[in-house]
Amino acid sequence: MEMLAIMGGTPVRKDKISYGKQFIDIDDIEAVIKTLQSNYLTCGPEVEGLEEELCKYTGGRYAAVVSNGTAALHCACIAAGIGPGDEVVTTPLTFAASANCAVYCGAVPVFADINSKTYNIDPESIRKNITNRTKAVIAVDFTGQIVEVEEIRRICDEYNLVFIEDAAHSIGSMYNGKKAGNLADITTFSFHPVKTVTGGEGGAVLTNNKDYYNKVLLARSHGITHNRDLMKENHDEPWYYEEISQGYNYRITDIQCALVRSQLHKIDWFIVRRKEIVKKYNEAFSVFPEIILQEEIPQADTCRHLYILRLNMDMLSCTRLEFFNAMSEEGIQPQVHYIPVYWFPFYQARGYKKGICRNAEKVYEEIMSIPLYPAMSDQDTEDVIHAVRKVIENYRK
Ligand SMILES: *Cc1c(COP(=O)(O)O)cnc(C)c1O
Repeated sequence: MEMLAIMGGTPVRKDKISYGKQFIDIDDIEAVIKTLQSNYLTCGPEVEGLEEELCKYTGGRYAAVVSNGTAALHCACIAAGIGPGDEVVTTPLTFAASANCAVYCGAVPVFADINSKTYNIDPESIRKNITNRTKAVIAVDFTGQIVEVEEIRRICDEYNLVFIEDAAHSIGSMYNGKKAGNLADITTFSFHPVKTVTGGEGGAVLTNNKDYYNKVLLARSHGITHNRDLMKENHDEPWYYEEISQGYNYRITDIQCALVRSQLHKIDWFIVRRKEIVKKYNEAFSVFPEIILQEEIPQADTCRHLYILRLNMDMLSCTRLEFFNAMSEEGIQPQVHYIPVYWFPFYQARGYKKGICRNAEKVYEEIMSIPLYPAMSDQDTEDVIHAVRKVIENYRK
């Protein structure tokens, strides 16, 4: 599609650079090939190996890997005992799956507003949205910054709620020196290609609670158990197993797990590189009053998954859409994360009204995500900064 030249002159980039991209090297490829040549394509040693490594890496006691991050959230909700009539408090500034998982269980998502500085769910707003039907909080580490764990923990203890952390953005991030996976009652990860480590698809559930862990294992595999201690009937037949609860096929392949394991070996470098790029962006953008930087809580040590460019619309003569299109024309393809979940027709049809989370809606209107991934070169980073500067200068009031 031909675009109208808005800025004029040559674009900063001719080849488009996108907001996120996986990094796959020869070690990753070899790990996958080795698994393809092995005896197990699923339910094999790569699955268990990844689970062990996730525990070791995050500090969480139990890990169950599943087919994707959405399945991980569904399993977390099942383990938390969420069912029809229950309410689950979550954020609207997230991918739809963070709320959909409650709907899968027949429960009702309730949207709490965000903090306008960190963009994470505001503990005070969680508190205001609690009723006697509330069963859990699903807090999302938006862009990779861990949520306000201490405050949310206090609220969950006070009202006897399960604290679920959607850590799809935050593998490798820390709160008070502890990693995601070892902070909430149940934590979920995603290994989608835009996330920090990938398996093509994939997800994981981390918990320190054995009961939750056992429930996740059942949910992952048809509600079927081979564990005699969990069975209802007494049978001696060697082939005997039982379906004891409602479950699904949320298994992940050994091929994917081998890829995630190989990626995990590089995570320290991924984190360093992401932090370097974020630092460069923050330094470059802090001189522009037209840009509002995302703030970090002092407890956070963030491996950022998304870099949010937030515009101070009062200082610009363009709309967010015009800014977005101008960036695209410079060869920098932004994306917007996220449309408030309850704005979607699916939720509107269920009675959610626009305007219920003012902060989230305002932030949504002002943001776009710009490129952030470890394979970006210093030149790529400079090009993004150059494009932002060029577009701002063109639209400065
Ligand atoms: C990616 C993502 C998910 C879903 O993960 P999938 O692996 O794509 O199913 C859930 N929550 C958030 C916040 C995400 O970014």
